[in-house]
Amino acid sequence: MESAKSAAAAKICLSDMTLPRLTEYCKSIGQPAFRAKQIFKWIHQKLVTDFSAMTDQPKTLLEQFGRECTLAAPTIRRRQQSRDGTVKYLLQLSDGNCIETVLMRYHYGNTVCVSTQVGCAMGCRFCASTQAGRVRDLTPGEIAAEVYTAQKDTGERVSHIVLMGIGEPLHNFDNVMDFLEIISCPEGVNIGMRNISLSTCGLVPGIEKLAGRHLQLTLSVSLHAPNNKTRSSMMPVNDAYPLEQLIPACRAYQKETGRRISFEYSMVKGVNDSPQMARELANLIRGMGAHVNLIPINPVDGSPYSASDEANIRRFQKMLEELGVNATVRRRLGSDISAACGQLRREDARQAAQQQST
Ligand code: SAH
Repeated sequence: MESAKSAAAAKICLSDMTLPRLTEYCKSIGQPAFRAKQIFKWIHQKLVTDFSAMTDQPKTLLEQFGRECTLAAPTIRRRQQSRDGTVKYLLQLSDGNCIETVLMRYHYGNTVCVSTQVGCAMGCRFCASTQAGRVRDLTPGEIAAEVYTAQKDTGERVSHIVLMGIGEPLHNFDNVMDFLEIISCPEGVNIGMRNISLSTCGLVPGIEKLAGRHLQLTLSVSLHAPNNKTRSSMMPVNDAYPLEQLIPACRAYQKETGRRISFEYSMVKGVNDSPQMARELANLIRGMGAHVNLIPINPVDGSPYSASDEANIRRFQKMLEELGVNATVRRRLGSDISAACGQLRREDARQAAQQQST
């Protein structure tokens, strides 16, 4: 006899479908195309997580959905609020895995930082998200549900999204592309591509594939060092795709999409923060019109690195500017609740329960 768990796993998740895909699905079960639009709106605009809430749908169809389909409906296991208004959620997925999602309040609107995988396989030495490896990819509907959960919980509209939570978005390429289509769809929450940033550790084939999609989003590349020796010591991915491949891929991306790249550079005391490094960095990316985001590296248990001091970061920034490279220092939101860059972690439900009871 089939267990309840595998029966649930066999259900089709309607939240994962782009509008064209949902339209195809509705046709395949003998429903007219307009139903797909209505159902898509229920899921991605009215943000319902229960078929019974779809009040304009025929009862028999909703019964069929109840038997054969499911919707992404993560539960909030923990909610922490920072002094600066940032909120961090631990969300439990339908299989018991937990991921973190962060809502940040900026003057231009609320930004949700979404995770794209349960864990991460990339192994960056300074990042908590990768310490326990990668468990699985998130589906398009699960990523979208992170945004919807934050929006419903705060009752405030989300206007911007950054794919900068747990996981490497380009290592989950197809699901992330479907998520982007869903989240920017006018029949859904309709968040424009120009309000979305996607960050990658530098998977060159993924950057090349993304260039071919001609999306208007902002591509951020986690550079963190201007030469292979230093970069490989911080990020194993650099051994697979060293700078002589990564930088030309970034230039080609800009040419192909007409969009400027933003480079992230986490400042680590004594590792990548010297004047010599600033010169090397300027030489590497000058002429691209790219923007450098300097981030004081955040503390992570088990990481060998500590942050450069503020004066040093300012000096580094000034040097870059003088050498013709545009650079800003990123605000550190949510660090008092471990919600800042590189501090997010996956958990499983048992861990989360233990934490709650202690
Ligand atoms: N995998 C993607 C998405 C993660 S985004 C990527 O690597 O880009 C998170 C950003 O925070 C990346 O630039 C990442 O390198 C950076 N980061 C990771 N750990 C950090 C830490 N401890 N302090 C500051 N930034 C960190």
